[in-house]
Amino acid sequence: MMRCELCGKDTNAIRPVFVEGSRLSVCQNCVRFSDEFKGSRGKSSSAPAPSLSVIEERLERRERRMKSKDVYATESKELVVGYADLIKEARRKKDWDQEKLAKALNEKKSVITKVESGGLTPSDDLVKKLEKTLEIKLTEMVSSAGGQRGSSSGNAMTLGDFIKKE
Ligand SMILES: [Zn+2]
Repeated sequence: MMRCELCGKDTNAIRPVFVEGSRLSVCQNCVRFSDEFKGSRGKSSSAPAPSLSVIEERLERRERRMKSKDVYATESKELVVGYADLIKEARRKKDWDQEKLAKALNEKKSVITKVESGGLTPSDDLVKKLEKTLEIKLTEMVSSAGGQRGSSSGNAMTLGDFIKKE
């Protein structure tokens, strides 16, 4: 179920259209407000309809933008809570002292001491080295709320399809 961006009605029959140059997902009722509909009916429109290539380019740009935004909004890699203890435990399991771990990672011992005490957030690079050397997992993919609307994937119809059908 999706929501019409013009009238707000919930419907399964959503169409991606341009309205005054903005791409919107609208219900069957609101398709008549779209630029394409106006154009196909030959009604007088003040501005000339944008050419297909312009529309496609705009569409692509918009989709790219939405995709990258989606990825950013829904998932991010974050250090697990209690990573400091995980490192400490894994190191002790190997029977290593901080000195030895530091050498294995090519880091200063003071860095290890700080990381294990939680006083220093390890860099991405150091996290990767720690994970590999100690054979532990220090990161997790975190999903933020509100990112799971499922509207971007289920709707396979593109503006191109819409134009072809008309
Ligand atoms: Zn509507």
